[in-house]
Amino acid sequence: SDSHFPVPVSPDEVDLSQHYPRYFPADNGGGEEAPPPPPRIRFADVGCGFGGLLVGLSPLFPGTLMIGMELRDKVTEYVKERILALRASNPGQYDNISVVRTNSMKYIPNYFRKAQLTKMFFLFPDPHFKEKNHRRRVISMQLLDEYAYVMEVGGIIYTITDVEELGEWMRSCLEKHPLFEAVPDEEIKADPVVKLLSTATEESQKVARNGGQTFHAIFRRISLQEE
Ligand code: SAM
Repeated sequence: SDSHFPVPVSPDEVDLSQHYPRYFPADNGGGEEAPPPPPRIRFADVGCGFGGLLVGLSPLFPGTLMIGMELRDKVTEYVKERILALRASNPGQYDNISVVRTNSMKYIPNYFRKAQLTKMFFLFPDPHFKEKNHRRRVISMQLLDEYAYVMEVGGIIYTITDVEELGEWMRSCLEKHPLFEAVPDEEIKADPVVKLLSTATEESQKVARNGGQTFHAIFRRISLQEE
């Protein structure tokens, strides 16, 4: 349960040096000049599972910090080990990805500041079929308010599922939300990230092996006049 993992009280309390030690060396030179501002996490993979997306994204966006959020303890530990092993066998690579064990439905604002994220991923989330369990879905109007808050204007939210009904649900929530707008098809086709949605994760590979169909919804965070 929640009591078994630490929750940062605010994004300032997230110790990035633990996650990305190469980006946060203990000794910053001690010179006269002010150090450059520290990098911030820009991508979040929500419900990252075994981490295949992070591993695929890492070399595509070297220098961009990304984090996976995963509820299951053992799975989170596996992803940590996987990343450490990749760093060890590929020096200078995979330093920009990490994972945290948390309940993303409760603690997104504890991890990210307003307008911090440029990409959020929701790949093959649990479907929660029954009507009474729809409130447990990781995409909902309420949660989209939170995601909109932590996303930069222009940032992109990527969702994919093999469950048609869930795909329609995620799309309709995003369509109804005033702070998101569908990314045009030509842009989706040109986006190198999109191919990873259906190939990089463990769940996507399972679906592909079984010849399953997938349904994606890819939306941009937009601004309102008032903002
Ligand atoms: N995205 C991965 C993939 O495509 O292979 C994993 C998909 S798996 C079906 C859904 C994952 O979401 C599981 O690993 C589950 O533990 C995680 N999850 C479910 N609810 C969560 C929550 N509230 N916070 C964080 N992770 C959650």
